[in-house]
Amino acid sequence: IASRCGVFAKTDVQALINQGTSKEDISVSVLQSVVNQTISNLACGRPIKGNIALLGGPLHFLPQLGNRFIETLGDENTYIKPENGQIFVALGAAIASKEEEGVPFKTILKNIENPIKVEFNEEDILEPLFKDDKEREEFFEIHKKDKVHYGDLKNYEGNLYLGIDAGSTTSKVVLIDEDNNIMYSHYANNKGKPLELVIDVLKDIYKNMNENAKIVSSGIAGYGEDFIKSALNIDIGEVETIAHYRAAKYFDKDVDFILDIGGQDMKAIHVTDGVIDSIQLNEACSSGCGSFIETFAKSLNMDVEEFQNRALYSTHPVDLGSRCTVFMNSKVKQAQKEGSSVEDIAAGLCYSVIKNAIQKVIKVRDPKQLGKNIVVQGGTFYGDAILRAFEKVTERIPTRPSIAGLMGAMGMALIAKEKSTGKSTIADRDFLDEFSYKQLQTNCNKCSNHCGLTVNIFSNGKRFITGNRCERGAGIELSKEDTLPNLYEYKYKRVFDYEPIDENKAKRGVVGIPRVLNQYENYPFWFTFFTDLGYSVKLSSESTRKIYEKGISSITSETACYPAKITHGHIESLIEDGAKFIFYPSVFYEKQEYEKADNNINCPVVIGYPEVLRNNVDNLKENNVKFMNPFLSLQDKKRLKKRLYDVFKDEGISKKEINEAVGKAWEELN
Ligand code: SF4
Repeated sequence: IASRCGVFAKTDVQALINQGTSKEDISVSVLQSVVNQTISNLACGRPIKGNIALLGGPLHFLPQLGNRFIETLGDENTYIKPENGQIFVALGAAIASKEEEGVPFKTILKNIENPIKVEFNEEDILEPLFKDDKEREEFFEIHKKDKVHYGDLKNYEGNLYLGIDAGSTTSKVVLIDEDNNIMYSHYANNKGKPLELVIDVLKDIYKNMNENAKIVSSGIAGYGEDFIKSALNIDIGEVETIAHYRAAKYFDKDVDFILDIGGQDMKAIHVTDGVIDSIQLNEACSSGCGSFIETFAKSLNMDVEEFQNRALYSTHPVDLGSRCTVFMNSKVKQAQKEGSSVEDIAAGLCYSVIKNAIQKVIKVRDPKQLGKNIVVQGGTFYGDAILRAFEKVTERIPTRPSIAGLMGAMGMALIAKEKSTGKSTIADRDFLDEFSYKQLQTNCNKCSNHCGLTVNIFSNGKRFITGNRCERGAGIELSKEDTLPNLYEYKYKRVFDYEPIDENKAKRGVVGIPRVLNQYENYPFWFTFFTDLGYSVKLSSESTRKIYEKGISSITSETACYPAKITHGHIESLIEDGAKFIFYPSVFYEKQEYEKADNNINCPVVIGYPEVLRNNVDNLKENNVKFMNPFLSLQDKKRLKKRLYDVFKDEGISKKEINEAVGKAWEELN
C-alpha cells in the first residue's frame, strides 16, 4: 500500500477491497506502510534507534501500530510507552507555560471579539466566476441543453440494457431502454462493498421492473470489473476509458477532448478521428480531484453542493495555487485567518482544481490547445462552480452532461446495447436470492514467491483469485506453444551467474559488489576485472522485500526511485555477510553501444548514489568497511585503464595488471 499520500493510500486500499482482499491483511498492510514511511521517508536517513518513545494518538489508541514499529525497528532498542502518550504535546505545552508570562483573561476576550482583518494583496485575488447576475443566468441557460431523458421503469415493456461503473469508491449503475432513455440510475459510495452494492441495486431493479421488460445485455467497467463480472455473470467487461468515451460521444458526436474528474482520479482523454490517441492520468498527486473539494467543504462544515453553490457568488476569489491537499490546507487556513469569505475560498479552490488539471495533469501551457469539442464529466463536474472555473481558465464552453457522474455506467449501457446478442447471462432474481460467496486465504506454491492468495468462491461455482503476481496463481497454465522464452530471466542469469574464486584461494582477498542499478549491465565487467586481479567477488543476493527493509533507516530522500532506495539494503546485506571491502563505482558515462546514440550518460541518481551510500550507511564506518566508489567513465578503454590504475595503485597493483584486467573485462562486457 502506497503511503506517500493519504489519498493515494485510500485508492490502493479501495482497489484491494474491490478485489476481495481480506480486511485483516489490508489492516496490517496499512499499519506497516505507516511504519515504513516513517522510518524511510520521514526520518530521512537518521536511523531510529536507542530509547524510543512511542507517543501521540495513533500509537496510543492502536497498539498494533506500536507492535509493527517494534517488530520493524528490532528488539535491540528500548521502547517507552507512557500511559498518557496521546496528550504528550499538550502536557509539554502546559509544563512549558510555567516559564511564560501570564496573559490576562480580559485581553484574550478582547482579541476574540475584535478579530484581526487583513486585506489580501491584489495579486492574490482572482477574477470572480461571474461579473454579474446576467452572466450567471446566461451560464445556466447554456448548460441546460445537455440533458438526458428519463423513462418510467414500472410501465416500460421491452428490452433493457444495463451498464455498471464499479469505481474505486463509488459504484454507478445506469439502465437504458431501446431509445437510450434512462430507466433507472444509481450513484452511491460503495462503502468498501462494491459487489454487495451492485447486488442490492439489481434486486431493486428487478423489484421495480415490469414483467414484460427484460435485461438483454449488461456490461461493466472500472476497478471492480473482474470481481463483479465473475460473481454476477455480467456479459461484457470493458476498459473504463472506452466506456467514458462512448458516453461522451453520445452527448457530442465530434468530441475530441474529455476531462473526467472523479473522486480520486483525473483523466484527460484526447480523441483524434474517432480514436482515443492519448490518455493522461494524475500520477503522483490527487490534489484537484473530488475528494479534495470534499475535504475542504467538510472542514468548513458544508456538503460539496452547498460549498460549490456558495462559490458562484464569490466577488474576490482567493488565489490558493495548485499544490497538494496538505499545503493547500494551510493556505485555506491563512485565507480564513485573514478574513476571506467562504464564497471567496470556495471559488479559489474551484480555480485550483482546474489549474491543477490543466498545468499538472494535462500539462498544456495554453489551455486553448485543448480540443475543439470538449466534454467535461465525472462527479466533480456536477458542481456549477467547477464548470465555470473551467470556462474561465480555458476560455472554452464545454459540454457538461447532466449525468456527469454516471458517464462510465452510461457508456457501458450503450456498449452493452451495441454488443447485445439478445440474451443476457446476468444473474436473475433467483440467482441473487441464492447468491453467496466465501473467501479463503492461501498461498500459491508454484514458484518461490509464494504469493498470498485470496480465493473468492461464488455460489455459481466460479472463482476469483487476487494477490497472484502472475497468471499461474489464478490457475491459468500456458501451453508450451504459448510460452515465450523469458528473456528477462535469460539476461539476469547471463549478467550475474559467474562463479567466483574460492575466498581462501583469492590472493587479494574478497570484494563485495551490490547487485543494484547499473550493475545490471556492468557486473560482467567488474566481475572479470576483479577476478583477473585475484579477488574473490562477493555479489549481494537477489533483491527482495527483506533486503529493502534492511536498508530503510539510512534512506535520505523520499523522492529517490525504488531501485536506488533498495541499494541501501544490498550494502547492509554485504556488510552482514562479512564484506570488508565494497566496490561500487560512480559511473558517469556508460559504454557507447550504438553508433547513433545521442548520449550515454547515466541519470544523476545512478551516477551519484554510491556517494549517498558512502555518506549515509553508518554501518560501513561502524564495521570498518572500506567502501570505494571512484568516479569514472566506461566510454573510453584507454582512459579507463589510466583511471583504474590511479584508483588501485595504492593497493600495490601494477599498471600491467590493470591493463590486462581491463582488456579482459572489456571483452566480457562486449
Ligand atoms: S502467482 Fe505466480 S509469481 Fe506468485 S507464487 Fe504463483 S507462480 Fe509464483
